Amino acid sequence: MLSNREYAVGWSRPFRQATSALLVLLAIGFSAPGQTPQSPVNQPPSSSTQTTPAPPSSTPPMAMPPKQLVMIDPAHGGSESGAMLNPVILEKDVTLALARRLRMDLSADGIVAGLVRDSDVTLSTDDRAAEVNAEHPLLYVCLHATSVASGVRIYSAMLNEVGEIRGPFVDWSTAQSSSLANSRAAQQQLVSAIQKIGIPVRSLQIPLLPLNNMTSIAVAIEVAPTTADVSQLVSPEYQQTVSGALANGIAGVLASLGQNSGASR
Ligand SMILES: [Zn+2]
Repeated sequence: MLSNREYAVGWSRPFRQATSALLVLLAIGFSAPGQTPQSPVNQPPSSSTQTTPAPPSSTPPMAMPPKQLVMIDPAHGGSESGAMLNPVILEKDVTLALARRLRMDLSADGIVAGLVRDSDVTLSTDDRAAEVNAEHPLLYVCLHATSVASGVRIYSAMLNEVGEIRGPFVDWSTAQSSSLANSRAAQQQLVSAIQKIGIPVRSLQIPLLPLNNMTSIAVAIEVAPTTADVSQLVSPEYQQTVSGALANGIAGVLASLGQNSGASR
């Protein structure tokens, strides 16, 4: 589920605190037609104190196109279990299983996908954003699971203001700004893909980290069971149904970006 911490950090981080310290490296925008420029970024500011300026990248800004890559982020992990969906099912395990399945489904469609974590490790939201931004993917998909809803919810970032861009730098806390329109278009394509398989789906905008910090097109997907039985979340059949629909939706997103026209089915 989407933890209070994830919400709280999203709201509480001061937007204009030491702006120059929060600037992150942005590649000067090469982009294919119809795409949002993608941006390599340096390390995020310290997630706790933010009193020390983030060190500038030691490498000069480089004009880099996004890779034909989807980065899948199984939320939570390690000491951070996420929701206890029932006494034996932890959210971190459901998200990892779903992520691996989605990677496999995308691969079957000829789409290269990577996982932000492929084991039970603890990662902060800043860690996740830094890792993904360094990869310059076309699309970032964060996966959550919950027992308190029915079906699938698909989120895009909510930003209170447009990100500041100074030359090759973009503000860490609003790095998603330049991709937000494309993220919302992708969100709607994924909603349509879930609707096609008859699973309830909702589309929402929230200040959920690390969406705000992503320079790529970015969505978060929260999967709930469709019945009162939470164990549906670990059923291979249900996971495959959801993953297959998401893979179709993602193929459509990439096709609409002109990056993977052969993958849509
Ligand atoms: Zn979660």
